[in-house]
Amino acid sequence: MYGNISIEKASQRKTMPDLAQNLGFGRHFTDHMFIMDYTEGRGWHDPRIVPYGPISHDPAAMIFHYGQAVFEGMKAFRTVSGEIALFRPEQNAKRLQRSSERLSIPTIDEAFVVEAIRTLVSLDKIWVPAKKGSSLYIRPFVIATEAMLGVRPSAQYSFIVIMSPVDAYYEEGLHPVNILVESYYARAVLGGTGNAKVAGNYAGSLKAQTLAKEHDCAQVLWLDAIEKKYLEEVGSMNVFFKIGGEVVTPSLSGSILDGITRSSIIHLLRNWGIPVTERKVSIDEIVQAHADGTLEEAYGTGTAAVVSPIGSLLWNGNRMEINGGQTGELVERLYLEITGIQEGTRPDQFGWLTYCE
Ligand SMILES: *Cc1c(COP(=O)(O)O)cnc(C)c1O
Repeated sequence: MYGNISIEKASQRKTMPDLAQNLGFGRHFTDHMFIMDYTEGRGWHDPRIVPYGPISHDPAAMIFHYGQAVFEGMKAFRTVSGEIALFRPEQNAKRLQRSSERLSIPTIDEAFVVEAIRTLVSLDKIWVPAKKGSSLYIRPFVIATEAMLGVRPSAQYSFIVIMSPVDAYYEEGLHPVNILVESYYARAVLGGTGNAKVAGNYAGSLKAQTLAKEHDCAQVLWLDAIEKKYLEEVGSMNVFFKIGGEVVTPSLSGSILDGITRSSIIHLLRNWGIPVTERKVSIDEIVQAHADGTLEEAYGTGTAAVVSPIGSLLWNGNRMEINGGQTGELVERLYLEITGIQEGTRPDQFGWLTYCE
């Protein structure tokens, strides 16, 4: 489509960390990376895999000034039978297109993105850890590279894929976290870029995240920017609540990211016959359900952690403990099912896995 992917192998492999322990998140990178360039009038061209290393850009490159950058986050798993699988990669490729479209970045063919990632993972497959819960985190991203200070969409871009072996998010099983409901700062507003996976959304969220840490909270639960009333999402995760036997999650309002884990969880819950509704969820409703004793569980969902139980919510100075600060039954069941599919110990009944070779 954009030409054959050329491969320049690293002359020497890196010294690998011990993949069985202490990888952390995003600290080690594999031997190779994928790059493809875009030039206006020519389209995407020169797809290539090269040794992992620094990239050089003109200081006037537009990425440094106006933030035209989109990214994805996905994982490759080594299954119990030794094969290497990606989890719903076509969904990441589709979302990369939607995010690009929002930032006026030329899109890349979805099947090509998946093929480029499969080729890169296959080449660096010794980096896919085998330890239960660990994986190879994959970070595709697109940046504006034209050297020009005028404000308009760049005429040149690079699509790059880098990969990092990572530990299970929870080394010792699920662990509930405290979350601060943010009443002042906003992450996104309808019409903005909240429903696109763009770098700038994160830059704007760091300050609130730092303040949350000072209150012993791991993340921020964002409210809608206008009424400061409806729940949006948690840090880099979507959010779910179980209230009186029913699961609810904020609907995709236009300022919330359409998480692939979120969609997988909705699918599983429906398949299990557990009622799940996508709708507006207000903070008042959560406070009320907590007071009534009907707030059973709360959890965030995203590729990094899969699910992250919420032990308490801090709102207006009041700490609301959820499920006694313990991991709930449903969130545990969801965790076991999704990680089971990913590691190949549970049937992949929805065809969510794509194998790398
Ligand atoms: C990536 C991301 C998520 C989670 O999406 P997944 O596809 O489930 O990993 C949720 N919210 C934000 C803001 C994100 O960037």
